[in-house]
Amino acid sequence: MQMFELFIPSDFFKFMIDLKKLQKDIYDNKVAKGFNTTDIHLEFCLTYGELAEAFTAYHKKLPDLDEELADVVIYLLGLAAILNIDLEDEILKKVEKNKKRKYKKINGVNIRTKDA
Ligand SMILES: [Mg+2]
Repeated sequence: MQMFELFIPSDFFKFMIDLKKLQKDIYDNKVAKGFNTTDIHLEFCLTYGELAEAFTAYHKKLPDLDEELADVVIYLLGLAAILNIDLEDEILKKVEKNKKRKYKKINGVNIRTKDA
């Protein structure tokens, strides 16, 4: 019996969700349905609102926590699209930056000692 080694490239999972496409779909849906795409302050407030809804769902043990968390990401992706920010690229860069940061616990609090 021959054994095969399964090779999974390190960036394989990056492609499981195409955030660039999702970001465009979310923006296109906003345009198609006549939702706001120009008032940035309003979009920030609505994004905060979705996070508050998620917190309330968690706090009150409501059944829609998963959907409310999805709303937070949908609003963030929509806001990024409005601002012409490629959130997929920014997330990947920030995750790598965070990995390189070093922390030291002082009085029970993590204090950053080295940035990327
Ligand atoms: Mg919601």
